[in-house]
Amino acid sequence: MNADKDNTIQIAGAGPAGLAAAITLAHAGCKVIVHEAQPDVGWRFKRDFQGLENWTTRQDVLSVLKDADITTDFEFLPCTNGVTIDAWGQTRAINSTEPIFYLVERGPNPGSLDHALLEQAQELGVDVMFNSRVKQLAYPAILATGPKAADAIAVGYHFETNMPNGYWVICDNDLAPGGYAYLLIWNGKGTVKTCMFSDFKNEKHYVQRTVERFQRLVGLQMNNPVAHGGAGNFYIPVRAIAGKRPVVGEQAGFQDTLWGFGIRHAITSGILAARSILENTDYDANWHSEFKPMLRVSAVNRALYSMLGNRGFKWFLQYVSRQKDVRDFLFHQYHPTLFKALLYPWADHRVKSLRNDAACSHLDCECVWCRMGDEH
Ligand SMILES: Cc1cc2nc3c(=O)[nH]c(=O)nc-3n(C[C@H](O)[C@H](O)[C@H](O)COP(=O)(O)OP(=O)(O)OC[C@H]3O[C@@H](n4cnc5c(N)ncnc54)[C@H](O)[C@@H]3O)c2cc1C
Repeated sequence: MNADKDNTIQIAGAGPAGLAAAITLAHAGCKVIVHEAQPDVGWRFKRDFQGLENWTTRQDVLSVLKDADITTDFEFLPCTNGVTIDAWGQTRAINSTEPIFYLVERGPNPGSLDHALLEQAQELGVDVMFNSRVKQLAYPAILATGPKAADAIAVGYHFETNMPNGYWVICDNDLAPGGYAYLLIWNGKGTVKTCMFSDFKNEKHYVQRTVERFQRLVGLQMNNPVAHGGAGNFYIPVRAIAGKRPVVGEQAGFQDTLWGFGIRHAITSGILAARSILENTDYDANWHSEFKPMLRVSAVNRALYSMLGNRGFKWFLQYVSRQKDVRDFLFHQYHPTLFKALLYPWADHRVKSLRNDAACSHLDCECVWCRMGDEH
């Protein structure tokens, strides 16, 4: 690839992946145009709260972003201690000395992650064209248009509340099949969701049960609730180059397969794609060495997690609550070991077979992925 600075580089999609690529290219003096299908950034997330995970590197994620010249000028809540709950309603504290994740807001509002990335890109001279849905982009270009299918969905509500800041997670297949239900409260606002890996067609029942469980166990109180949901897509591609164009973020399938944390892989892959153009290096080789081993481990983690069932979740949560430092525990769980390397072929097969959600034919269906067709 050739970093010809007179050549305009076009990017499809103004999510974290596309904007991180644009920022990296603009820092190097390239002319960049980003096409965004929606009228603003973060459109599919409204004002969702999400966790910018802080466990896959020893270095703090905010410092990692700063080192890559990506803005940290967004609002965030460092999250250390939280509460897990099993299917029998038993609560357990989880602790960490450093933040396990930073809560951030997604969407177009000032203070959100998306807004901060947009501002940085525009200040560097990137031309972001909204309402510009591209069908084809000739090289030089980067493809960053987000998920193409639903391997998991997260559905629930955004709301206002008088509850204090905090986060709670319930592992119970009756609320979130194969996944987890979560409640995030930050400065008078909240998000409650069930993150489901199967049975999408019955999402309404799972949402209702999730809300009722949080009301009963932690006194969830919602004012002005607004329904919100979204889909996640994850797989490990052999190559993430279409023609000569790097494919980044969730469009490439890059996401933590265990729990669906995708923001960091999106930003990292955007940066790597931009550098591959600037430095004329092989993008596939770069992401393979940077995070492919972690993607494989997350697939093994998912395959193991999917076998646990509610009794297994209870055991898992007990084990996690005994850890002195959950951030450190997760660091080890997300990095390769010989045991997990040996399990990968089995896990790959199992995760692929779990994807066939027989409960959703996507015909006459109102599940979040089917609804999302118009929005995305
Ligand atoms: C409800 C929910 C909760 C989540 N929670 C977390 C979390 O807590 N932590 C975490 O790390 N991850 C979380 N994720 C995943 C995370 O949001 C994504 O992995 C991340 O946003 C992917 O970034 P991206 O840039 O690849 O794609 P996106 O953020 O989807 O951005 C893609 C952009 O491309 C645009 N686009 C699409 N098609 C076109 C086109 N043809 N032309 C031009 N533009 C186009 C879209 O409008 C969109 O703005 C969550 C996902 C969901 C749905």
